[in-house]
Amino acid sequence: SDTPHWLFGDQLGSHFVDPARGGPHRDSPLLMIESRSVFRRRRFHRAKAHLILSAMRHRAAELGDRVRYVKADTYRQGLREAVGDTEVTVHHPTSHAAHAFVSALPSVRVLPARGFLVPHDAFRTWADERTTEHLRQEDFYRWVRRTHDLLMEGDRPAGGRWNLDHDNRQPPPRGVTDLGVPAPYRPRESDIDDEVRSDLDRWVRDGDVEFVGDDAPRGFPATRREALAALRRFMEHRLVTFGAHEDAVLSGDATMSHSLLSSSLNLGLLDPAECVERAEARWRSGDVPLNSAEGFVRQIAGWREFVWHLYWYFGTGYRESNALRHHEPLPDWFRELSPDGTEANCLSHAVEQVRATGWTHHIPRLMILGSFALQRGWDPRAVTDWFHRSFVDGYDWVMVPNVVGMSQYADGGRMTTKPYTSGGAYIDRMSDLCRPCRYKPSVRVGEDACPFTAGYWNLLHRHRDRFEHNARMTRAVRGLDRLRDLDALLQQERDRSD
Ligand code: FAD
Ligand code: SF4
Repeated sequence: SDTPHWLFGDQLGSHFVDPARGGPHRDSPLLMIESRSVFRRRRFHRAKAHLILSAMRHRAAELGDRVRYVKADTYRQGLREAVGDTEVTVHHPTSHAAHAFVSALPSVRVLPARGFLVPHDAFRTWADERTTEHLRQEDFYRWVRRTHDLLMEGDRPAGGRWNLDHDNRQPPPRGVTDLGVPAPYRPRESDIDDEVRSDLDRWVRDGDVEFVGDDAPRGFPATRREALAALRRFMEHRLVTFGAHEDAVLSGDATMSHSLLSSSLNLGLLDPAECVERAEARWRSGDVPLNSAEGFVRQIAGWREFVWHLYWYFGTGYRESNALRHHEPLPDWFRELSPDGTEANCLSHAVEQVRATGWTHHIPRLMILGSFALQRGWDPRAVTDWFHRSFVDGYDWVMVPNVVGMSQYADGGRMTTKPYTSGGAYIDRMSDLCRPCRYKPSVRVGEDACPFTAGYWNLLHRHRDRFEHNARMTRAVRGLDRLRDLDALLQQERDRSD
């Protein structure tokens, strides 16, 4: 019980200090290390740096005398200063780098991971049993639903269908710029936030670190209490409309009906089990429709878990994948989060939202920001780094599979069956952003050519040899043969300056 236990900055909830769940003894002293070098290595969004420091310091304040909070340059220095060579325990960290670091220290004993539904060894057994070439999220999700008895009726899925995606891909309602659902929870800042803000200002003044993005009032929960309030508000007022317009984008409604819980889950303030259980309970009590409950459970028990396990299963080399050999650098305006750098309304809008808040929902990430990067052939490692730095919920484990695999197709299809990208028609159908845009989604060549439409055909042309052999892409690739203006389009894309 004297062995100190180290809490990383994304292990902040009570489930990381629970002796009943393999955590440290009730009386074990706790240790937290705030490492400055983490912020020096990358140019993070200011809101992200603020949220992480605020959450760590709030947690330390709650734990009081039980915790030793060390501010150090590096983890190694902090550890030496706090405990010397004494043994410490720590729950499995969330990045390859941190895991390698703690595993190499003889004085650190690594306990199993917390904060996910499926243990590492159970996933490995599941994955090793698959004889198919690819691991599929849908198979994994069904297995999680069965083994965790989530939204099940006996051994059948609730409502008779596993997948209600079809009901959840509706375009936004016509004639409105706002979905009109109750606003998400917003926290109120505390004295700790004031302190964080002045520390960050000082670091910048001293030339020690640099940030991108706006410094705005903290928009995401920093404590378990705030995270629970956010969860409650979502469950009571917003889950009901989560499903139908999950993939839609409206210019006047940044959050739509999304939960905004990713940063709280990833900081360890919420346990995924409590999120999916509450969603199921809302459906069982008749308060929300099945497509909303299922859509939300799929995001957490399906996607979030799958991404976490693939990160470990694919190993350290996965981040280097570059199957499409994309090497273009990111343009300055994109790196600096400057929405004026492009006239594409959808893109400018998404970049502006990232600059202001460090968050967008899934579709701007995947079908606008990520899709553009893929079409332009930007280096997938630089794109991963950009997402990691710019989003409040970005951590190595979640960014690497989502960007390298899902968004950039840099793994050549280990994670998804086909690249997630589209022409402007998809964006036009799913948003209200095309109408005010200076480009036209249906035009592919000339002054009004939509960069997504032209970029889509250009990408297919560039990788025709590869995509032709992908059953889900052959039809799209054949479409190239019907484009009479293909040569002009390719020339136009070669001349493009962004
Ligand atoms: P909701 O739409 O309300 O979904 C509920 C929860 O499901 C989320 O809070 C999140 O915890 C989980 N979830 C859903 N999809 C995923 C997914 N693909 N991977 C992991 N969790 C998922 N999510 C992150 O948490 N951190 C990231 O750094 C991140 N980077 C992304 C980068 C790209 C290019 C893409 C395409 C997706 C990324 N996602 C990331 C996944 C997803 O976009 C966000 O989790 C989601 O938009 C967060 O908003 P929300 O909490 O309102 O989500
Ligand atoms: Fe985006 Fe093209 Fe629509 Fe403009 S026309 S908003 S660039 S998809």
